[in-house]
Amino acid sequence: MCGIVGAVAQREVSAILLEGLKRLEYRGYDSAGLALYTQEDQAIHCRKAKGKVAELTGSLELSPLRGTTGIAHTRWATHGEPSERNAHPHLSGTEIALVHNGIIENHESLRAELEQNGYRFLSETDTEVIAHLVHQCRTDAGDLLSAVEQAVSRLQGAYGICVMDVLEPDHLVVARSGSPLVIGVGIGENFIASDTLALGQVTDRFIYLEEGDIAVIRTDAIRIRHGGVDVQRAVRRVSSELMDVNKGDYGHFMLKEIHEQSRVIEDTLNGRISAQQVLEEAFGVKARDIFDRVTSVHIVACGTSHHAGMVTKYWLENIARMPCQVDIASDYRYRNIIVQPGTLFV
Ligand code: GLU
Repeated sequence: MCGIVGAVAQREVSAILLEGLKRLEYRGYDSAGLALYTQEDQAIHCRKAKGKVAELTGSLELSPLRGTTGIAHTRWATHGEPSERNAHPHLSGTEIALVHNGIIENHESLRAELEQNGYRFLSETDTEVIAHLVHQCRTDAGDLLSAVEQAVSRLQGAYGICVMDVLEPDHLVVARSGSPLVIGVGIGENFIASDTLALGQVTDRFIYLEEGDIAVIRTDAIRIRHGGVDVQRAVRRVSSELMDVNKGDYGHFMLKEIHEQSRVIEDTLNGRISAQQVLEEAFGVKARDIFDRVTSVHIVACGTSHHAGMVTKYWLENIARMPCQVDIASDYRYRNIIVQPGTLFV
């Protein structure tokens, strides 16, 4: 799953979107793209590039796109090779533009249905299915929010999506299930991203969307819906130190992270351990109650976290004498698991 950035403002937003994508580069990706609504011709314009965000920036320097509403994406291919054609945003006709993080599991049956209804697919992605589905729902629903509500009710899998509509260019509609999305709250402008880091340049106030939330983002208003009703979510402040995405003097992000380990471990343990023991409140007030009942530990993780989980397994077995199992999250999801009572999940 990779990166999403979106903006609705009174100023031109292409530079904000590109900076947002750059700030998400630490995650790794294979292509990038953005779509902007241009007031002059009242149309959505899209630009994509395989490879680095710098390629996209270069293309926009040669032939700029301007707009006050826009969406952008860095893609980590799951369906279809990394290529300009498969890069996001994906369009349905000239009206809907959409970016997506995640995987749609019923994309084949939806694709067959949409093809039968006359939609033509230009990419191999599961994402393009959502763009056409929103477009199809839009015809019945009459407005973008209702169309997205209808469309996501038919999706199986994981998604964070951000949609723009040429007929309603003053806002974005976003939805999440299984992939994170966070609203960046500005003054007379608002933003969306898959990660607070992407928006550290424009705001320090965030609303974390919850599973199943759908939101409408305008310059002067944010409306959040859950299960068909409007809901309120708290605005939280994130300190700018936590949003530092600079590589510093390091050649790349992994090297920086390796060198940061001792400080990060110190910061994490600080206030949680005394000279000889772990402080009781270190894991929260209910920890003792929970730990007393634990008979085994099950760690579910991906990539580097999976490696960390493997190390933890050795420690838990050796030091705590606690049985521990470690699974790769992407495989785990498809297994028919057996969970013994007293299992602690990490
Ligand atoms: N499944 C989508 C694709 O392959 C989205 C991948 C992502 O999360 O970047 O295009």
